[in-house]
Amino acid sequence: MTDATDPAPTTTGKVSVRWATATDVGLVRTINEDSLLASPPLFMVADGMGGHDAGEVASAIAVEEFDRLVGADPLTIEDLGGALHTAADRIDALSDGGPLSAGTTVALVATMEIDDVAYWVVLNLGDSRVYRATEGLFEQVSVDHSVVQELMDRGELTEAEARVHPYRHMITRALGAGPESDPDYWLIPAEPGDRMLICSDGLTGEVSDPVLERVLRDGGSPEDVCATLVELALSAGGHDNVTVVVVDALEVDGAPADPAPAGSDAAEHFGDDDTWPRSPVTPDDDRA
Ligand code: MG
Repeated sequence: MTDATDPAPTTTGKVSVRWATATDVGLVRTINEDSLLASPPLFMVADGMGGHDAGEVASAIAVEEFDRLVGADPLTIEDLGGALHTAADRIDALSDGGPLSAGTTVALVATMEIDDVAYWVVLNLGDSRVYRATEGLFEQVSVDHSVVQELMDRGELTEAEARVHPYRHMITRALGAGPESDPDYWLIPAEPGDRMLICSDGLTGEVSDPVLERVLRDGGSPEDVCATLVELALSAGGHDNVTVVVVDALEVDGAPADPAPAGSDAAEHFGDDDTWPRSPVTPDDDRA
């Protein structure tokens, strides 16, 4: 297992964070095609796919392009879109005229100030995931771009059935590897005590949401949580590369805020309803 941690709080803008990461090739695969970035204010996981080492290269390109944004002041939503665009062009170029078809998921969390309020900006493309745990709440923030998610949305599949469905690894959007590369975005006001988990499907394919919730709540430091989650994925079979990034908000400058009202700068970035913050998901919810 490769891991990293930042034991000292790092403050970027209004949010002070502590974070840790871990990634492991798993027990079945021979190479790790997941890549990760943990460099405040940006935290991401990219799960690459493609023949030969194409997936590894694709996920590394995605991380490289977002890594360029570290230090941008201010960091904006447009910057995130720009990094995605450049990464997509570079990944598509890998397969131009050649047999390699490469792509990658992107699950990203960035702390950002919008209208002087600190937000978690969450971006998703594919089936890597972002979860949030606070004292009273555990939710999957991102919604998978996958065949089984679409079947569940239509009521044709339960979550239990989805976990063993033959198409459970088939994703409907990715960066590269096809035409569909529009990400979804969510804006969530950052509050002290928030714990964000970003992970590849090598974790969520092996470990259920109730177990994730328990570890996020009771698992100790970000470093301990990362180690525990990877151990759980491996002991459940480790069928895929597993990557986890855990970010804690220690302090947030300013009062806790409500979601941005319609008409604010934040709202203007997102006309679509599906990019608006979703209602909290309680542990009683179907998806938990
Ligand atoms: Mg995977």
